[in-house]
Amino acid sequence: MTSADNLREFKRDGRIVIVGASLAGLRAAEALRDEGFTGSLTMIGDELGEPYDRPPLSKQVLTGWVPADATTLPRRRDINAEWLLGVPASGLDLAANQVRLADGREIPFDRVLISTGVRARPWFVESEAALDGVFVVRTREHAEGLQRALAAGPSRVLVIGAGFTGSEIASICRERDIPVTVAELAPAPLVGALGAMIGEVASDMQRAHGVDLRCGVKVTRLEGDAQGHFRRAHFDDGSTIDADVAVVALGGIRNTDWLRDSGLAAGVWGIACDTGCRALDINGLITDDVFVAGDVARCPNPIYEYRLISLEHWANAVEQAEVAAHNMVSGQADRWPHLTIPLFWSIQFGVNIKSVGVPTFADEVVVTQGSVSDRRFVAAYGYRGRVTAAVSFNNAKWLDHYRQLIESAAPFPPPCPTPDQPVDNKPVPVDFPGPELIARGATVVVTGNDPGERRVTSMQQHHR
Ligand SMILES: Cc1cc2nc3c(=O)[nH]c(=O)nc-3n(C[C@H](O)[C@H](O)[C@H](O)COP(=O)(O)OP(=O)(O)OC[C@H]3O[C@@H](n4cnc5c(N)ncnc54)[C@H](O)[C@@H]3O)c2cc1C
Repeated sequence: MTSADNLREFKRDGRIVIVGASLAGLRAAEALRDEGFTGSLTMIGDELGEPYDRPPLSKQVLTGWVPADATTLPRRRDINAEWLLGVPASGLDLAANQVRLADGREIPFDRVLISTGVRARPWFVESEAALDGVFVVRTREHAEGLQRALAAGPSRVLVIGAGFTGSEIASICRERDIPVTVAELAPAPLVGALGAMIGEVASDMQRAHGVDLRCGVKVTRLEGDAQGHFRRAHFDDGSTIDADVAVVALGGIRNTDWLRDSGLAAGVWGIACDTGCRALDINGLITDDVFVAGDVARCPNPIYEYRLISLEHWANAVEQAEVAAHNMVSGQADRWPHLTIPLFWSIQFGVNIKSVGVPTFADEVVVTQGSVSDRRFVAAYGYRGRVTAAVSFNNAKWLDHYRQLIESAAPFPPPCPTPDQPVDNKPVPVDFPGPELIARGATVVVTGNDPGERRVTSMQQHHR
């Protein structure tokens, strides 16, 4: 049989398993059926119920406008799949082509898509995380619980971490007229994602809306009362704050633990893959039958020097899912690369923040349009003299122009495309907090001397 015959047979009778039944998993399943895949499709997900949308969980669900159970993702088409929900996958056996479930079942596949996403990083002391009134926000249940706690009218909410999720939650608290303290280790909110200049704008915005913003501080302890309810937080400078609700918004942990012995290039930074969404194995070699999409993927982008980039962006999850699905049922010559320029949005303190590109891939930033004090502007990011990203505050309609500048490696700083040229348009250093995780994140070691023998081994196996 030719490889074209094999592919035709696979599209008709093959077995595809998708692990992670949320945004990326569902959109991939729909795209597989659109591509004419008529074989068996199995969706494995550890959450119960229909796949739902997460962005509203830190926005409309917390204001109470949208009930948590009204966030179900719209279906684009029937996917005719078997759904195995409520049990996590616990292993991937690439020799036997099987996904192992935590209840002992083994699910065979010809091709597998991994879209297990990210979970919320919990508070680091388990007994304190378990106090009533301490929340994270990643799932529908989390958001429902926090919405109830906000509706009960807490005396104060403490938000730990001023990234996008923490800032959005602080904004909702102010909208509901709830006193809120935001504690952030970095010098300003959003600074890890957007740098010091935008961080300063975000600080001003939070304070102008009545947030008690404390930067450069670390929360060291969450204290409960005799009934096990959170009541007080302790800071590393010796100060304390009384509050009834604490929201831990310290980012996510990629769901790759279940792949520990799979032989894939999977670790705390995600699962490495090529632009065709095919997973790399532990040696960095491309696998044939394992694909990755969404928040858990770590994919190279030619625009950014082919660096492997992980994104926790809704649009990226959808696009990667569609590329992965296409490539799962296509021959090598027909495969697509995932080359989209990243796009992200957030709504906080009445401002629509949008970004295009990768702002952390920059050494300088400049306001190119509008006025920072009016909170209506665009800032462009540059790396070694070319445009690599842009961020807009209430000015999203120009972002497509910046996307084109990024795609064409246009010189930085770019000219202002509109008459609203800012008064101060000198580029300044972008100034991100130090990459302290880089040194700590090693997961593999290289062994062997001859090129034929040289292999990568996971640190765990090496030290066993
Ligand atoms: C509160 C919040 C607000 C957000 N706001 C925005 C926004 O404004 N703009 C934006 O662009 N993006 C936003 N995002 C990010 C966006 O929601 C994600 O990029 C998107 O959900 C990624 O989809 P995914 O399918 O890759 O991963 P996920 O949505 O994380 O889904 C992964 C699924 O896999 C399941 N799973 C994990 N491990 C296993 C296992 N071993 N076995 C079986 N199943 C498993 C998980 O439980 C989950 O159901 C937000 C996210 C959150 C949490």
